[in-house]
Amino acid sequence: MTETQEVRGDSGPEAAALVASRVVDVPDFPKPGILFKDLMPLFSDGEVFRQVIDEIVAYHGPDSFDVVAGVEARGFVVAAAIAYATGKGVVPVRKAGKLPRRTHSVSYALEYGEATLEVHEDAFAAGERVLVVDDVLATGGTALAALELVERAGGAVAGFTVLMELSFLDGRARLAPRTVHALLTV
Ligand code: AMP
Repeated sequence: MTETQEVRGDSGPEAAALVASRVVDVPDFPKPGILFKDLMPLFSDGEVFRQVIDEIVAYHGPDSFDVVAGVEARGFVVAAAIAYATGKGVVPVRKAGKLPRRTHSVSYALEYGEATLEVHEDAFAAGERVLVVDDVLATGGTALAALELVERAGGAVAGFTVLMELSFLDGRARLAPRTVHALLTV
């Protein structure tokens, strides 16, 4: 019997397969019942990491955004690389209590727990176009909070990208009508 494994994503099957080749499933982390998608092997492979960043830039187009916002902590890795590749700046969306100056703050439910995200009040110039990135889209709570923070701080969301989306958790539907770009959808 032949088993065909469907590999899909918004930048096509090749980009999806590239991400899939560097994801390690970790059962019961950080809590029993959670299948954690570990993308560290993707980050540590220079060739694959560069291709993945290039795919994201190609999808959005380097002229479609002015700055990149990354969600703590794995989103920082992706955001910084996109920012450097395109000559843009990077803005960290951080967990509560980490930013030193006045912040906007949004609390939300996670697939495993609860959290608060913050961004500096003066993080963006008015109307600045912001590409928001994270590693994994699960329930969408984190993404919604990050997008709301960007807008509260005066930015305009130019796009939202994740390396990988867990489609069974319906995060994409929760973010509608905003569009989601996921390199790999499982
Ligand atoms: P959510 O708010 O449910 O969409 O969760 C997304 C955030 O939690 C992202 O910042 C992910 O890094 C992390 N996350 C949630 N679920 C997982 C998972 N199964 N594997 C890896 N990271 C996850």
